[in-house]
Order: sequence, then C-alpha cells, then structure tokens
Amino acid sequence: MKQYLFELFENKEYDSNFERFKFKIPSLRVSLLGRCNENCFYCHNEGVPKKISSTIQTGDIINVIYSLKNFGLKKIKFTGGEPLLYKDLKNLLYKVKHINDLKLYITTNGTLIRKRIKDLSPNIIDKISVSLDTLDPKFYKYITGKDYLYEVLSGLKMLKDYGYNVEIDAILLKKINSAKSSLNELIDYCVNNDFDLQFIELSDETDYALYSKFYADPYLTLKKAGLDFLNDDTNDRQFFKIKNSKITLCTKVKDVCKSTGDRCSGMRLLPNGILKNFYY
Ligand code: SF4
Repeated sequence: MKQYLFELFENKEYDSNFERFKFKIPSLRVSLLGRCNENCFYCHNEGVPKKISSTIQTGDIINVIYSLKNFGLKKIKFTGGEPLLYKDLKNLLYKVKHINDLKLYITTNGTLIRKRIKDLSPNIIDKISVSLDTLDPKFYKYITGKDYLYEVLSGLKMLKDYGYNVEIDAILLKKINSAKSSLNELIDYCVNNDFDLQFIELSDETDYALYSKFYADPYLTLKKAGLDFLNDDTNDRQFFKIKNSKITLCTKVKDVCKSTGDRCSGMRLLPNGILKNFYY
C-alpha cells in the first residue's frame, strides 16, 4: 500500500495542489491487466506499456480504493487491456460494491460478455461501456484484427435482457464510420436497444500515420447525422436525447470538463500497482 501512495505523495504537483486547493480525487480508473484479446489499430493500451505483463491483485485494488476515499473518491472504472479477462472479477466487483457511496463502471470490448455474464450483475455495475465503432463485420475486423462482431452483439443482447445500463463507445474514424449512413446505423441500433451512445474523437496518442489517415473532425462529422454539438470554451459534455438513449461526444481527454475540473483530477492505477495522475 505504502508503495502505491508513494508516487502520489512524492509528486510535487500533487503536494502543492493539495495544499493550495485542498485537492480532491473524485475518480479512479483501474487498468486491471495489460492483455487484450483484440488488436485495434488505434489502441494506446491506456498508456500502459505492453511489456507490463503483471496483473494487479484484488486486495491491493481494494486497499487503494479505501485510501482514496479519504480524498473524496466517488467513481471507479475498470478497464484493461480487456477487463473481462481478469480472473478474479466476480470477487473484485462484489468487494467494491460493498464500499459505501461508490459508483462502479466497466469499459470492455464486449467479446467476452457471454462467457463472463455469470460473474457480472446489473445490481453491482452502475454502467457498462462497450466499445463498438461499427456494425459492419468487414470494418469491425479491419479495426480490431478479429472476427468477433457476432460475440459482441450477442453479448450486448444479453446485457439488454438482464437490464444493464449500457453505453456504446464509438471512436469516429474517417472512411470507416464517418459517413451519414454509418452514423445513423449506429444511432438507430442504440436507440432501438435503449443503449446510450458516446462518440469519441480519435486520440492523437495513436500512431501519427494512422491518426492522419483516420482522424475525423467530430463536430463536422456528427453534424451530418443531425447532431450539432457546440464547440465551446468549457466543452463540458453536451448531449442529445433520442427516445431513451443519450448521445454524447467525448473530445480529446485534456479538453474535457474544463469548467468543473472533475475528470482532470482523477487518477489511474496501472496493472503493476503504480498510481498515476490521469494524464501521465
Ligand atoms: S479492445 Fe481496447 S484494449 Fe483491446 S486492443 Fe482494442 S482498444 Fe486496445
């Protein structure tokens, strides 16, 4: 435990911020492991070097969460690699849910939902975000390197049947999903299933050649589908409501929530136990 918090307290930026602003840490993003069963061409692996093969243990995660509760921790999100590859997931979720006043989120590629559904529960998970950029099997394979679209869609059907709060995360990609017809196909799919939909701007942490090839301006792209998001100074999350689905746009992480600073003061826990500022 001391080892994890060492980075936090030795970090001069946090020292001074805590003293000056009574620094709070409202959210923690835990990368459970570096491994994934897909191979998306834009993957930046949550900033976790692929050579990190370690997997953080449940007891250590719980200790970190209890410590950060003293800094106002309210939200925890499990990511990977692919978090549904984490063997002790059922036990971990159960333990986290018994910590008071904490919202629990998971971000997954959705390929293993059917296999792990017995280890999940809609009463424990406040929201499950599933990455799905396209409904076209050919493009899906092109992006992920795998032929798993059927697994993802059947997993999503299960989540719907069991009453989970689901959000689809779709990265906007030129020539892949940026045409009006592709955008509307994703929107219709989400609206028909009562899923929320979050469009995401391609990160510039992606390889430069790929970034140049696939970057789609989020505001111009979504305008084609009738979603006229404003590019204003505060850039807090705006949304459109279509029936029961909320449609949002997430632009580059560093620009998000400037007015509240909420996400900016979150932290990340890596599979090797290192606790980091959200950006570094
Ligand atoms: S599913 Fe996520 S973690 Fe896995 S390769 Fe794709 S972007 Fe990376």
